[in-house]
Amino acid sequence: MNLKGKTMMFYVSTLAALLVVLTAFSALSFHYFSIYAAEMHARSVAETVKLGLTESMIHGTIDKRQQFLARLSAVPGVRQVRVIRGPAVVSQFGPGIALDHAGVKNGGETGGIDLAMATGKASFEKASTGGELVYRALIPYVANDLGTPNCLQCHAVSVGTVLGVVAIDIPLAENRRNSILAVGLISLAVLLAALAGLAILRRMMNPLSDTAHAVQEVTAQAVGGDFSGRIQQRSADELGAIALNINHLMEFLDREVTTIRTRVGQLMGHHLNDGGNQLALTAEMVEGLVTVSQFKQAIEEDQTKLDIYLRIADVLGQKYDFKRFSIYEVAASKNRMTPILVDGEIGVTCRYCDPQITVDSSFCRARRTGHEVNAVDFPGLCTMFRPAEAGDSHICLPITQTGTAGCVVQMVIAAEHAPLARLLAPFVAVYLREAGPVLEAKRLMEHLRENSLRDAMTGLYNRRFLEEYIGTLVSGTQRRKSSIAVLMLDLDFFKQVNDTHGHEVGDKVLKALADVLLRNVRSSDIAVRYGGEEFLLALMDTGAEGGMKVAEKIRAEIEATKIPIAGGMLQKTISIGVAEFPGDSDTFWQIVKFADVALYAAKAGGRNRVVRFTPEMWDVNAHY
Ligand code: GH3
Ligand code: MG
Ligand code: MG
Repeated sequence: MNLKGKTMMFYVSTLAALLVVLTAFSALSFHYFSIYAAEMHARSVAETVKLGLTESMIHGTIDKRQQFLARLSAVPGVRQVRVIRGPAVVSQFGPGIALDHAGVKNGGETGGIDLAMATGKASFEKASTGGELVYRALIPYVANDLGTPNCLQCHAVSVGTVLGVVAIDIPLAENRRNSILAVGLISLAVLLAALAGLAILRRMMNPLSDTAHAVQEVTAQAVGGDFSGRIQQRSADELGAIALNINHLMEFLDREVTTIRTRVGQLMGHHLNDGGNQLALTAEMVEGLVTVSQFKQAIEEDQTKLDIYLRIADVLGQKYDFKRFSIYEVAASKNRMTPILVDGEIGVTCRYCDPQITVDSSFCRARRTGHEVNAVDFPGLCTMFRPAEAGDSHICLPITQTGTAGCVVQMVIAAEHAPLARLLAPFVAVYLREAGPVLEAKRLMEHLRENSLRDAMTGLYNRRFLEEYIGTLVSGTQRRKSSIAVLMLDLDFFKQVNDTHGHEVGDKVLKALADVLLRNVRSSDIAVRYGGEEFLLALMDTGAEGGMKVAEKIRAEIEATKIPIAGGMLQKTISIGVAEFPGDSDTFWQIVKFADVALYAAKAGGRNRVVRFTPEMWDVNAHY
């Protein structure tokens, strides 16, 4: 039941209850009032009878009393007046006239008369005379000796003797009729007033119930994300204020939620479809924005590019349930691309693309165009795609870094997941958009770091690299209980090259030497340009003996290397000192010094030779 119905029901039931109570109360009041009036009336008549009889006795006309009583009985409002003699009066004056006993003969009131006679107290009762309801008063006359004349002057009785009883019948029917009429009129008046009140209340309730209904509808719409509902302002009172305030609230929400959604959409670079629940959509977008911002913060704090790729893999696999995907990295300088992660695995080969793209990245459409390649909507868009299962499709998204695709993320989509994938791909794109600059920054950092640790001319590591990484190398060697052979190399009479052929030729010789060194060491070994034309090799898991062999091989190869220069060929020799960590010392830098001492010995011994360090060579005072 609605508000209006409830109010009406409350009003009507309250009025009905009020009417019942009022009717009952006035009926009761009229009843008691008419009884009281009848009683008072009876007492007055009784007193008149008493006075009349006393007068008759004094004037000796007591035998005419029947006339007197008959006249009195004819008075309107009195039906019958009788006098019943008490035993004392009967024994003194006889039984009296017939009328005096009419009541006794009629029966019914004998008990009341006897009681009044015996007790001297008035009693009242309802009785029926000739089918008419009457109120019968039985009022005793008690003898007293007060004043003159008094009772005892005629009656031979003592004070307090009941002389007789006056029985007065007062008709009740008319009173009752009048009472019923009055109560009926009162009830009718109240009912009419109530109906008028009801009509007024209904009119008053209309704006309230209409406003309440409109508020209900507009707020329900708002909960559903539609803020276009408005409420008609029906009055200038509180209801009008409610309507006005709700309208303002709706306008505010409509404007602000739209603004928030648009702004968030701009921030995310993706706008959700209109038409749904605007509030839920906005909340969803803000939630998405928060997640993306958390993602961005996380990848900014990641140390390597691989950490970022793994996080992207998490977004793909965990958040959006793309279980099959590839993340390719495009080499900055060369036209190659490498699969970094395939289905979450690191360092595997192409799984869903023709491997051609790895050697020539321009085959990859997403890489070449820098745009999304959506083969779900446009099948066969990229000819490089290799489906694993029939019906497989793909969406490839580039990660833009400084204007071009620095990475390509490929999502492989089974036919039944195509509709969902189409919806989710834009969200993935938002993450990738955020990852782009961070990846670029990381790539730059790695590039800078790499450069700062390498010698630009030869491409070998520089001394700083050795200083930074030697701790890691040494602890690994100690853990494996292995050794490092340290070779110190220095070209013989190199100064002459510069002096004779110029610095450019000198540089050419240094590059040739670097190539020889790189050819003769393993990828786990470390080749360092230690000084101008001094080089250091740290051969991992190699003892002095192995180190000597490598050194000898290098020495021989340098000796045999012919470097073409203007006007002929140039051949140089090299001297090498060898020491072993931890065989010669458990301090790595001491080993470097020992190798240098051995190198000095090689120079001193005539150059173009390899010398193994021996403790006798160590003469702190002499050289170091
Ligand atoms: P030794 O056999 O005793 O080693 O004789 P050396 O002439 O090689 O003597 P030393 O090793 O002291 O010579 C160092 C020379 O290397 C000095 C410098 O001209 C040259 N040099 C150092 N760095 C470079 C470089 O980057 N390019 C060129 N062209 N020459 C360099
Ligand atoms: Mg030198
Ligand atoms: Mg030299």
